[in-house]
Amino acid sequence: MSAPVVIIGTGLAGYNLAREFRKLDQATPLVLITRDGGGFYSKPMLSNALAGNKTAEMLVMKSVEKMTEELKAVIHVRCEVISIDRSKHEVTLSDGAVIAYSRLVLAQGADPIRLPLAGDAANEVISVNDLDDYASFAARLDGVKRVVILGAGLIGCEFANDLLSRGVTPVLVDPAAWPLSRLLPQVAGVYLAQRLTAAGVDFRFEVSAGSVDRCEGGFRVALSDGTKVEADLVLSAVGLRPRVALAKAADLRVDRGVVVNRLLQTSDEAIFAIGDTAEVNGLNLPFVLPIMQQVRTLAATLAGTPTPVKYPAMPVVVKTPACPTVVAPALTGMAGEWQVNTDETGVEAKFIAADGSLLGFALLGEASKQRQTLAPQLPVWLA
Ligand SMILES: Cc1cc2nc3c(=O)[nH]c(=O)nc-3n(C[C@H](O)[C@H](O)[C@H](O)COP(=O)(O)OP(=O)(O)OC[C@H]3O[C@@H](n4cnc5c(N)ncnc54)[C@H](O)[C@@H]3O)c2cc1C
Repeated sequence: MSAPVVIIGTGLAGYNLAREFRKLDQATPLVLITRDGGGFYSKPMLSNALAGNKTAEMLVMKSVEKMTEELKAVIHVRCEVISIDRSKHEVTLSDGAVIAYSRLVLAQGADPIRLPLAGDAANEVISVNDLDDYASFAARLDGVKRVVILGAGLIGCEFANDLLSRGVTPVLVDPAAWPLSRLLPQVAGVYLAQRLTAAGVDFRFEVSAGSVDRCEGGFRVALSDGTKVEADLVLSAVGLRPRVALAKAADLRVDRGVVVNRLLQTSDEAIFAIGDTAEVNGLNLPFVLPIMQQVRTLAATLAGTPTPVKYPAMPVVVKTPACPTVVAPALTGMAGEWQVNTDETGVEAKFIAADGSLLGFALLGEASKQRQTLAPQLPVWLA
């Protein structure tokens, strides 16, 4: 029998690739390996699960047993791939097992970035990036009144809005002057901040956290303006970094992510990368829609029909019910200017090129309903 296709990771990238592959190829052996429990879940739900009173178990849509049966695959759980031997086409697992591959796919996701914080509780700052993290976060919320969140980006704002549903006051700290500062022009950011503030979020803008110390009943976070904030928990949401260590150690080409071409192939033609780990044509896009584009094309490639990935423009819906928000950022290097219409119901911000064409947008409040009309007018990201 031929060596299996081996996928490292059972997140949305790994599992969706396996599903698409099985639609095209029922015969080739398939092996998936994951450090976590292997349950199938949708990671975006981690930042709006509190509102629905969801436990980590409730977020698992399919057990690993069900996935094994559906995919006709062998799935190794709670097991880490510690090295890749490219010359032998083998991976070594943390339990000592060695698995041969015909093709290997890196779908390892990304790690939360850790801020260099001082203080005796710096190590107790949590981040929520997978089901296990969510389980321990949710378990610690009983009796909690205030949570400091470091970072007012997409994930920080979503957790803040979600915590409100539990009667918790989120204190959202960011060095920028408004939330989602890399995605929104100031007027839109100010509108979002007003809506979230009205709902109960306590913003601290233009400051950064320097240290986290234990104090009676919780933590004390010292901010760069000299103020201190006390809270029951400190959550970090300052961004993610693709997991590239394994690829780097195997001498694959790595930049921000694992560098792949349009066939999602790394510098080794038998090894591919997808999801938050991958950098396609310079684009590392840690979102669900790019993954769905990648898995369909890579499945075809692995099944024998080399198919380059294409990216339409892919707007991102921000899960802040206090202020419905959709952003479609212009790609880096696209020159343009924001044109903003605002009233009490919302903000429509369009990023317009010199020739009048639409390059990106940010829609807040009522204006978010225009997503379907505006999205088709955006330029494709990878033709
Ligand atoms: C809180 C939150 C909310 C989000 N909300 C949205 C949203 O609303 N919309 C959106 O588009 N995107 C959202 N995202 C981003 C989106 O969820 C991710 O882009 C996507 O889930 C990444 O999937 P992945 O499979 O690449 O990585 P992951 O889901 O992180 O999976 C990585 C897998 O690799 C395994 N792994 C890693 N290293 C090894 C190793 N050495 N050996 C074995 N296994 C290994 C892990 O165990 C895991 O199974 C959100 C992200 C977060 C954190």
